[in-house]
Amino acid sequence: MVQRTIKLNMPMNEEIIETIEQYNTISNLHIQKCFELRTNSKKKLHNALYRQVRNDFPNFPSALIQCARDNATEMLKGNRYRKKTLKKPLSTIHFDLRTSKVFLGSGEVQLTLVGGRRKFRVAVPNYFQKYINWKVKVVQVGINRKHYKVHVVVENGEIAPSKNRKVLGIDLGLKNFAVCSDGTIIKASKIRGIKRKYAHLRRCLQQKGTRSAKRKLKKISGRERRFMADFNHCLSKKIVNKDSGVFALEELKNIRKGRKGKRFNRMRSNWAYFQFRQFLSYKAEALGKEIILVDPRFTSQRCSKCGFIASSNRNKGFFHCKSCGFSENADLNASVNISQLGQALVEQAVVNQPNVAIDEGAFVAPNKIV
Ligand SMILES: [Zn+2]
Repeated sequence: MVQRTIKLNMPMNEEIIETIEQYNTISNLHIQKCFELRTNSKKKLHNALYRQVRNDFPNFPSALIQCARDNATEMLKGNRYRKKTLKKPLSTIHFDLRTSKVFLGSGEVQLTLVGGRRKFRVAVPNYFQKYINWKVKVVQVGINRKHYKVHVVVENGEIAPSKNRKVLGIDLGLKNFAVCSDGTIIKASKIRGIKRKYAHLRRCLQQKGTRSAKRKLKKISGRERRFMADFNHCLSKKIVNKDSGVFALEELKNIRKGRKGKRFNRMRSNWAYFQFRQFLSYKAEALGKEIILVDPRFTSQRCSKCGFIASSNRNKGFFHCKSCGFSENADLNASVNISQLGQALVEQAVVNQPNVAIDEGAFVAPNKIV
């Protein structure tokens, strides 16, 4: 099951504000009741509150009371019923399928509000047209600075797993942002340049400390974030569409600290790599492709030709095997090692799955990013 959130904007309207405020007040009543009665049963909450809410909010649609109640219990489920977090008056609210309807093709949104069912027109960018046939799960309405933001969560049915079992190894690093085992090298110099530029700007503005400087600071932090997200979207799209059904990456968790040195620890804490992995993972999922994680030990010291492991094999950016004399770009050699480890995991999984010949779709990844 693959889900996507479609973000749309709708013009401002008094009735929606009133609905949002009442909805959040009602949600909060349910949250408080939850703690008072020490229960998370929807039925008990309904019995305890429904009549009172009907009386206090006579215009509020009864179907929406259920949404507000479900929203409250979902929030509590999120923190395992430990913390009593209340909703703010203008927090985002959720509509279910009974209280909302979205036609992505024509851009029509129907919502049940305090005054009854209302229709709105929203502009749906062409980019989202590909989700027209997906099933709408939930509609979220919140307030942006200038508009209402309407988030439509859509879901696609099961996606057939790709039959392509070719593994592409991807090595992420500081000098080269990503190197694929097919020889693709994406240099990190452009990112480093941009990061340096923003770091410099930030330093100057922080020293200044005026109000306009603070405003500017906020602006550039958004710009830097968008640059990185765009970079990662483009890169992950390019890689995911390559002729491989399996993408192997180094496992970053569960490795003892300092195992792989400074480079590795820096990468582990850098969100740009984290974001890339996330984007690649969800884009792969939508195509029925998968991500597998391999043990990162020795991937940079091992010769991808003969398997000889020595730390002296690698000298900065170059790899030269002390045993067979094979030379290669060090990151490329590492990515080939990663793809070989991935290939081994794929074959192992096929062996462990004896009825794979009957049901080719039953393949389960040994290590999948969640
Ligand atoms: Zn060798």
